[in-house]
Amino acid sequence: MDQIKKNFTGIKNELANTAEKVKRNPDEITIIGVSKKQNIQTIYKGIQAGVKTLGENYIQEAVEKIKLINNASLSWHFIGHLQSNKAKLAVKYFDLIHSVDTLKLAKEIDKQAEKISKIQTILIQINISEESSKSGIDSDKACKLAEEISLLKNIKVKGIMGMPPFTSDPEKARPFFKKLKKIKDDIEIQNFPLISMTHLSMGMSQDFNVAIEEGATMVRIGTKLFGQRQ
Ligand SMILES: *Cc1c(COP(=O)(O)O)cnc(C)c1O
Repeated sequence: MDQIKKNFTGIKNELANTAEKVKRNPDEITIIGVSKKQNIQTIYKGIQAGVKTLGENYIQEAVEKIKLINNASLSWHFIGHLQSNKAKLAVKYFDLIHSVDTLKLAKEIDKQAEKISKIQTILIQINISEESSKSGIDSDKACKLAEEISLLKNIKVKGIMGMPPFTSDPEKARPFFKKLKKIKDDIEIQNFPLISMTHLSMGMSQDFNVAIEEGATMVRIGTKLFGQRQ
């Protein structure tokens, strides 16, 4: 069997076991195959193995791949840092943008979405690790940003995304995942118009099982699925 197919089957089995352990429905958890810096052949193998949602970080690289693969049944998610001047491309090519962390960026996305009569779904990225180098809005400002974005007519907020600081021990990520879940719940109870806090995008190759235990609905998996990046 192809290695990527093996990897995908293994990940799906782990996901199902973990979901069962915490009495969650595995069908409500989406695996995003993170294909940044992977070549087209590798991505094709993923698609053949059944990967339906792909995550990309770099807009130029992503747009080239999306055009080349040209498969309308796939869903492409933008998970990298997004500059406002690239919002137009992100809106044109991506179903979900995980990394909205300023009102300025949201306004630009809103403007570009309006131009092509699209309602752009997004997640708000939280700087959960509180490292100044990381992107994302500070936890204590997330609710206010959600409220401000809720007033933009061509954007629909669907949840939040976050990344704990890197560690080799997945248990160390758990408190950060708990914090992200709490931020999601805090925004949810505000009942802002046009917001539906369905999604919690957290967990990567190293720690996705812990993330699922703590409520992740989207896990972003790169190397464990596709192997080392180029
Ligand atoms: C690269 C990346 C991932 C995937 O990381 P792996 O450790 O390879 O699974 C997930 N999320 C984001 C935001 C990334 O940049």
